[in-house]
Order: sequence, then structure tokens, then C-alpha cells
Amino acid sequence: MIAEPDGPEGRLRRLTTIWSRAVFPVTSTSLTRPEFEEQLLPLARRLSGALRARVFDAGEGEAVGAALVGAHCTAPDALSRSLDCVDAYLVLYCGEGGDQEDLRARSARLQHAMAAGFARALRERTLAEQEAIAQAALRAQGVVAQALHASEARFRAVFEGAAIGIGIADLEGNVLQINGALLRMFGGSEQTLRIRNVRDWTHAEDAPQVWRLYEELVRGEREHYHVEKAFYRPDGTVLWTNLTVSLLRDPDGNPQYQLALMEDTTERRLLNLRLRYEATHDALTGLPNRTLFFERLEKVLSAGDGRRFGLCYLDLDGFKTINDSLGHAAGDRLLVEVADRLQACATAPGEMVARLGGDEFVALTTGTDTQREVDELASRILNALVAPIRIDGRELTVRGSIGVVEGPVGERSAAEVLRSADITMYRAKSAGGNRFELADPEADARTITRHGLTTALPAALDRGEFFIEYQPLVRLGDGSVRGAEALVRWLHPQHGVLGPDRFIPLAEHTGLIVPLGRWVMEQSVRQAREWRERYGDGTEGPLRINVNLSPCQLTHPGLVQETVDILERTGVAPDALCLEVTESALIGADDDLLKPLRRLAEMGVDIALDDFGTGYSNLANLRRLPVSVLKLDRSFTQGMQQFPADPVDLKIVEGIVALAHSLDLAVTVEGVETGAQAEQLRTLGCDTAQGWYYARPGPPDRLHELALADATG
Ligand code: C2E
Ligand code: CA
Ligand code: CA
Repeated sequence: MIAEPDGPEGRLRRLTTIWSRAVFPVTSTSLTRPEFEEQLLPLARRLSGALRARVFDAGEGEAVGAALVGAHCTAPDALSRSLDCVDAYLVLYCGEGGDQEDLRARSARLQHAMAAGFARALRERTLAEQEAIAQAALRAQGVVAQALHASEARFRAVFEGAAIGIGIADLEGNVLQINGALLRMFGGSEQTLRIRNVRDWTHAEDAPQVWRLYEELVRGEREHYHVEKAFYRPDGTVLWTNLTVSLLRDPDGNPQYQLALMEDTTERRLLNLRLRYEATHDALTGLPNRTLFFERLEKVLSAGDGRRFGLCYLDLDGFKTINDSLGHAAGDRLLVEVADRLQACATAPGEMVARLGGDEFVALTTGTDTQREVDELASRILNALVAPIRIDGRELTVRGSIGVVEGPVGERSAAEVLRSADITMYRAKSAGGNRFELADPEADARTITRHGLTTALPAALDRGEFFIEYQPLVRLGDGSVRGAEALVRWLHPQHGVLGPDRFIPLAEHTGLIVPLGRWVMEQSVRQAREWRERYGDGTEGPLRINVNLSPCQLTHPGLVQETVDILERTGVAPDALCLEVTESALIGADDDLLKPLRRLAEMGVDIALDDFGTGYSNLANLRRLPVSVLKLDRSFTQGMQQFPADPVDLKIVEGIVALAHSLDLAVTVEGVETGAQAEQLRTLGCDTAQGWYYARPGPPDRLHELALADATG
């Protein structure tokens, strides 16, 4: 790929160069710096992708952290330099055009995930290394034992040359020999080490089994043992080791010596502790972070019967405004103060507070009486926020919205609990904020299905899960079929057939409506051609197809060209197509928005104003719009259901029809369910109708039956 210096690829490059320059000096890689940079590039690309992905996935950050270990960046500095670089440059170089606050929050979460992934990979690698060393130690022990019996000289060579510390003592614990590596690990002179009995090398952190295993070994009851053990060095500092002790027997098999092999793990241990802390705490506030909170919550939720938990999910109201107007530094200080106050709210045993990222915090309480406690906790938190926070001589007032989830442990996963809390928090926010709301499983389920449907939409289009039903449009004058409206459905693998009201709004929200709408148009225009081929044009011209257009499709630049392409590909005349646009989509439309519709109308495509009369109808406006059909909303037809029909309704419809006709617009009515309605509408002068009275939406061949029946009958 050629990188334009100012294009996204060029900026990604620049980020990678900076990153590789920062980290290269502290790696143990055998690559050159440019080669190393090539290794980092895909990692930078993953971070950039995660930063802007529609659905955020912190797992990407973890994978990048783990990949750093794989690329020999195992020094602690390699991680902190990487994090610094991501912190300073990721949003700057890869976040163009996005919501900056959101991007920064994502960047922070990616950094935590990187640290967590790094720590985990390092831990796994260390375990693998230890395993290898233990194997080597066992082999060494065999060699040493053999050497003792065979040749003192060969033994010496193995003993002194070994990279790990080796010591030999008798069974009373008198140290007989130590090698150079062991001496270097402990420091001090050989003498100071040799005069101490093995039993005196205790440490406060010795695990209980350490000395039990030792006694068993010197009694000849076990051949070897392996422990992690700390020692005080002669200078008082602590040495951590992986210690393997083996029993050496004489040629007759009697216990004779003990052989200790030790590996210095002090550095690695410190690094792990530091990494563990960094990976589990929020750098700004020092609170436990999302990772640690998840771990804790998972543990709580897997606890035994009878225990309950309560969780408060807090999001500050209007934090973005403060951050935008006073700057990041002030925003950070505010978060620190909020964190301190929250921590003071949850000090009892079993309670904890964490920062999940951005301005989102959680407080957890556990025990048997959380139903009462969690309400109190939520109130305490809201109260704690009441006093204004002083920053730069200003008094800032922050409020928060809290979603509360409470229940018995063992029923839901941590992710489910957190999602429920998140949804509930949004409910508190939309109710005006500065309050807490309790989770409602039913409301959750609705939102979760919504969410699930939204994420499933793109794949559904690829997998061909959508299909179209056709509802006939009938001429009121003679009852003949004039055409059909295409109505899309989704055959969802779990939920069965879903109507457009369930997913069109979601598709509009995510932009999928554009490819979906294109697909509907293509399919239904093909269908129109098939109808014509199957039984030709009627006396009144071909069967027409009505296709609904969403507002997003109207503003999509490809609309006119794609429509033309579809008509040309299928060989269907433009006047066989009618596009239905809702009245509300055209409210206040300026000429730019109307231009594509006007172009289509000029080509002969009919434009229908759908759901006409649902609120905003500005009749005077009609003249300006490139429409040729008015589709009266179902509500008008419903008004005619009772008998006799409301005379005011009748007058309105009559007026609309007269006006429409004077403007050369045809009038279609929707939702005709009875013969009486059809008759009424016919007398009022409506041109065409659609509704269950004629047919419900159905498969395309049903239209044949209807049209055929009316051609022969
Ligand atoms: P709409 O364009 O107003 O479609 C008419 C709706 O009324 C259809 O609901 C239809 O099934 C229903 N209907 C038809 N006759 C009767 C009747 O006699 N009584 C009653 N009570 N209802 C009747 P449906 O299929 O659920 O579609 C709902 C809406 O979804 C449509 O309203 C349209 O706005 C949208 N839609 C459907 N297909 C598409 C599409 O492909 N693209 C876009 N953008 N929107 C679509
Ligand atoms: Ca419609
Ligand atoms: Ca309609």
C-alpha cells in the first residue's frame, strides 16, 4: 500500500515510527530498527481499528499487549513506553473526525487492555520458562549425581559452569559446596554463606509446606521437591528463587547429600507485581480498573448459595461539557475528586469502588442484605456528589446517573450484570439524571434484543435472511390490480419473521438501510419484470411496483445512479416504479435534498408522499415537491370504521382529495379493511387503495392470483 503522507495510512506510519523509536532501545530483538517497525505496524493498525470500530472491543488491546511480548519487548520499559506513545499519539493520528472524548476514553481502555495482555503473556511465558528450567535442573541433577560417583573433575566443571545456583549440603544442613552463580545471587563472601546451616535460611514469607518438604527429603522419604522461596541476602535485601532440592544417595542407595538448584526470580517477580498493579489500576485515580473489577465481580458471582450482590453503575451527568469548556486537566482533577468521594462511600468489608473508564464508575456491595444496602449505597453516592468541587477557583457542580442491579449470585455472568447496569444507567439519564434507577429485567430484555438485532443486521443481509412481501394496490373505480407495494421482512434465525418496524429504525441508525434499501429496490424491480413476462401488460400499462425509501437513502449520493442502473439492468420502464417517501422526511427539505427526487421524477419515476396527514401536513408545500401521488395515512381510514363515519373526517378527506386532484396528484388510501370503507373512499374520489380487504402482504405469486382473478372475472 502506498502511504500518502497526510492520508490515514501515512499517519498510521508516523505513529508506528514514533513507537518503534521509543521502544526499540529497550527490546532484546535481533531485528534492525526498520525491521522492528514493520513488526509494530500491524499492531498499530489493530489499535487504530479498535479505536474507530463501531463496536468497541478491548480484546484488541490485549492482543497487542501480548504481541509485544512475542516481539521480545519484555522489559517493563517497553510496556510503559508503548503506553506513553499510544496515550500521546493514537487519538491524534488515528482518531480524525471522531468524538474526541469518546476516542480518548477508548484509547485509555485500550492502554489498560494492552497492559493486561502484556502481563498475561509475560506470565504465561515465565511459566513456560520455569518449566524448561525445572527440566534442565532434573537433568543437571542426574549429571551431578553421576559425576559424584565417577569423577570429581567432571563434576567440578558442571558445578561451576552452571548458570543457575547450585549448593550441596549434608543431611544435617551443613553447607558443603556452593557454585559461583549461587554466590553471585546472594552476594557476600563464600564464607558467610557456608557457615550458616540450611535450616537457618528461613524467610517470613515461607509457605508452610517449604520446611515440611525439607524434613521429608532429609529423612529420605522423598527424592526431590520444587518450591518458590525467598531468602534474606547477607545485606538484608530479599532474593526470590525457584528452588529445586534433590536427595543424593550413595552407591548403596543410602541418603547422603542434598543438592539445591536455584534460579533467581526476584526481578521477574517485581516486574510481575508492578505489571499486575498497572494492569489492574486506573492510572489517573488509582482506583481498581475495569479488569480488576471484572475479576472481583466474577468471583463474587460465583460465590456460594444465599449470597447476594448489589452494583451501582455511575456515569456523571454533563461531564463532557466540563471537559470541553475547562480543558482536560480540569476534567482529570474533577475525576480524581469524584473518585476520592466515591471511595469514601464504600468502605465496609465486601464493598469496592472502581473506575471503568471515562466518567464511568462502579460501586459493588456483597453480602446477604444487599437489597437494602444497595439503595443506601446509591443514595450515599448521589449525596457525596452534592457539595461543589473546587477547581481553579471555580465551584463545579457534578451530578450523576446510577443504574442499580441487585440480586442473588450464581444466576448471571459478570458481563450480563454490567450490561444490565449500563442499560439501567441510561434509563436514569434519560429520566433527567441526578438519580438512580433499579434494573428491570423486561426493559433490559427489550434493549438487549434491540442491541442483538442491530449487531446481527449486516450479516443478515449477506446471508440472505431478508425477503419481500407484496401487497396489491387496487383501483377503486373497477377493483383491478394496479401494482403492489414491496414490504421487507427479516427471517431471523432465532426470532422468526420480524416486521420492518422492528429493524428498519435500527438499519437507519446504523446506515445499513442504504445497502438493504438497494437490495429491496433491485429485488422488487426484478419482480415487476417477472410479472410482466408472466402475463404481459394490462390495458392500463404494466403492473407497478412501489418501494419505500428511508430518509437516509434520500441523502445518499448514489441514489439516482443506482436507481437508473437497476432499471436499465432489468429493462423495466421508469414509470413502472414508484418510490414512497414519508411526509416527515421532506419537511423543511431544501432544494439540495429534493434534487435527486426531482431528477428521478423527471425521468418518469413516480414519487409518492407516504403516510400523508400524520401531523405536519403543509398543504401549501405540496406544490414545491416533485411528488405525483399522495398516500393517505391509515389513520384516515380508521376514522371511517365506525358507522356512520365521522362527518368531519369525511370532509377532511374530501378536501384533501380535491386539493390533490387540483395539483394533478393521484390519491391512494392505506389500511382499507372493509368493503364499506372501500365504497366510502371511492365516493370521496380516491384513486387507488391498499389494505387487508383486498389482500394482506404476501408472496409475489399471490398477486398473480388476484390480478388474474380480476382479469378473467
Ligand atoms: P407503510 O409504508 O405505511 O406500509 C404499510 C403498512 O401497513 C405495512 O406494514 C402493511 O403491512 C400495513 N397494512 C397494510 N394493509 C393494512 C390494513 O388493512 N390494516 C392494517 N392495520 N395494516 C395494514 P409493515 O409491512 O409492517 O410495514 C411497516 C412500515 O415499514 C411501512 O409502512 C414502511 O414505512 C416500512 N417499510 C416496509 N418495507 C420497507 C422497505 O423496504 N424500506 C423502507 N425504508 N421501509 C420499509
Ligand atoms: Ca409505504
Ligand atoms: Ca404508509
